Formats: sequence, structure tokens, C-alpha cells
Amino acid sequence: MLAQHINVSDIIDESTARSYLHQTIMATFCRVLASSRLPPGVVMRLLASALGATYREVAAAHQDGGCPCGWCPLPVIDIETLCGCLVEAATIHRAGDLSGMVAAGRA
Ligand SMILES: [Zn+2]
Repeated sequence: MLAQHINVSDIIDESTARSYLHQTIMATFCRVLASSRLPPGVVMRLLASALGATYREVAAAHQDGGCPCGWCPLPVIDIETLCGCLVEAATIHRAGDLSGMVAAGRA
């Protein structure tokens, strides 16, 4: 099954944001893998490290009211949540377990 290509202008909710990020990260992963010829496990660790660095930089920009959006980072809780999301998304779900399946479209 081919996933539908999502453009940044198509992002209207959490589901489309998730799909856009997934396709963008997958494309980036594949480009780095092909260009670097590094093993997939090394590229995956670099990807996880880049996500952690992104969190650190965005959280730093939100310290002491640095951004008007109102988000107040809580590093211990946020990082624990990020780790949980990584485990959940990376876990292979049993056949018949629909909780990990991505919807193919919208009604
Ligand atoms: Zn903000």
C-alpha cells in the first residue's frame, strides 16, 4: 500500500502532522543512508540524536517566556514522554491489533 503524499499545506490536524513528519523523516533517513553508506542502525541513532537536539533547542527557546505561544517545557517529563513515543512507534504490533495502524484515508 502506498501512503498518500502529504504537503506541508495539507497539515490540518495531529493526524496529518504525524503523517507529514513520518514521510519527511523517512525520506531524510533514506537520503542519508544512500549518501553516507552508514549502516541503518547508525543512521537511526543519528536520527534519534537529532530529535533530542531539536527538543533541547526548542525547549531553550521557550525558557523564561521566550516565545509567546505559552508552552512551558518540563524536560524530565517531556523527555520521558518522547522516549515512550519512540518505544510505542517502534514496537511491532501483533496482527489484529488495530491500535498501531495508520488510517489510510479520511471519510
Ligand atoms: Zn512557542
